[in-house]
Amino acid sequence: MSEKWTVKGTIAVDHVLPELDAMLGTRSPLAGIQVKVSARSKIPFGWGTWAAWDTVTTGANGAFSVSKEKGSDRRQFKVEILYDSSKLRIKEGKETSLSIGGNGFPIDIDFDLTDKDWHEVHSDKDDDEERRAGVHDLGEILVTASVARKHGDIWILYNKVIDLMEDYGTEYIFKKKVVVKYPMSISPAASSSYWNPIDGRGHIKEDQFNAYTLLHELTHQWEYDHCTGENGMAWQLVKHGSTHQQRENTTFVPFLESFADFAAVKMLQEISGGSLKNFLQAAPYLKPDQPFSRTHIGGALEPEERNLANLDYTERGWYGLFTVLTFAYLDRVDVDRFFTDVDGEHRDYAFVSLFTPVHDLKLGFSFKDVLSLFLAKPSADIDRVITTQEMNYRAFLDRADRILPGMDATKVKAVKALLNPKAEAAAAA
Ligand SMILES: [Zn+2]
Repeated sequence: MSEKWTVKGTIAVDHVLPELDAMLGTRSPLAGIQVKVSARSKIPFGWGTWAAWDTVTTGANGAFSVSKEKGSDRRQFKVEILYDSSKLRIKEGKETSLSIGGNGFPIDIDFDLTDKDWHEVHSDKDDDEERRAGVHDLGEILVTASVARKHGDIWILYNKVIDLMEDYGTEYIFKKKVVVKYPMSISPAASSSYWNPIDGRGHIKEDQFNAYTLLHELTHQWEYDHCTGENGMAWQLVKHGSTHQQRENTTFVPFLESFADFAAVKMLQEISGGSLKNFLQAAPYLKPDQPFSRTHIGGALEPEERNLANLDYTERGWYGLFTVLTFAYLDRVDVDRFFTDVDGEHRDYAFVSLFTPVHDLKLGFSFKDVLSLFLAKPSADIDRVITTQEMNYRAFLDRADRILPGMDATKVKAVKALLNPKAEAAAAA
């Protein structure tokens, strides 16, 4: 005789990332993940083998339900989850060795994407449960295993960014399914997390599980989806892994790296609805929104190279430009003085007057505005996405002049004067 069996519950995770804990509270449901329910029947001397029933997707509240018409013998259930959707897949990595392939990236071990990453989150055998036909509500199932729990946080964090880009519009979306591996141990051990934009796969090192690294790396995929040019981005390994020369050989590498730092914190601010201004751990900048002081912005260059023409060869020069474009009170910024607060003087950052404007330039562009500088805008005669050849001050500010509302040649000149590491040259401009 056949009877109806139903197994249901909700899947949730307690956050590991302090940023998610601050934004969402201690615990969140895992929405949109795959849930597989398997059953086994009691047989004369124990239990039969597990047979998968159905795989379903959790709803917005993390809920799932699987029903079957089955015989009335005693059964046990187990529940497994998979972090997979049409947009995102999270995998447990293994060691990859850094031999570089023809595209400039490490040759990855090709993993089977179909059936390797299920995490068991509940099993009746652990409590010797014997169930009869009917409805079995397993209640809230917490994902507690260390890696699966961290995957839960990556799932929540990355889906928020994927949703944010969809909210911005179809031009802004990630163009391929994001696949990220954690933990990815990489040999030699001194190497760092990196993203291979060609196959859309990120690799996060075990000791770099933090929101800053996760969002910086994800930004590399977004950049790659919205620019053309340089493919061989093996420089990421050098850039992420160790100290490097301050004045670099190209302008596009410091541009893409600096933009990944800038976008990471802007993504955090946006997905938290403005409640988080900076990363709570591993923050690369003390004041991520604030323009640099004039002495700091050129400080990465040798004294004889410290001029505007060299600044776009440095990450600091690019980061300084992004903050000038977006800082809300730009007209109160004096780059020739240092920022001071209750903790004292911060010589990296420019002074901000509390009430009185010190010059006329106001910009205050949004994160979305800055992202738009990557995109085509036919109405402004920009018919293609940014190329790596345009990732220098002159070409990038030309795009800004044409794309950003209210921007003009006078303002571009004023921006350059704020960035110029030489005060005399800035005053003369
Ligand atoms: Zn990077």
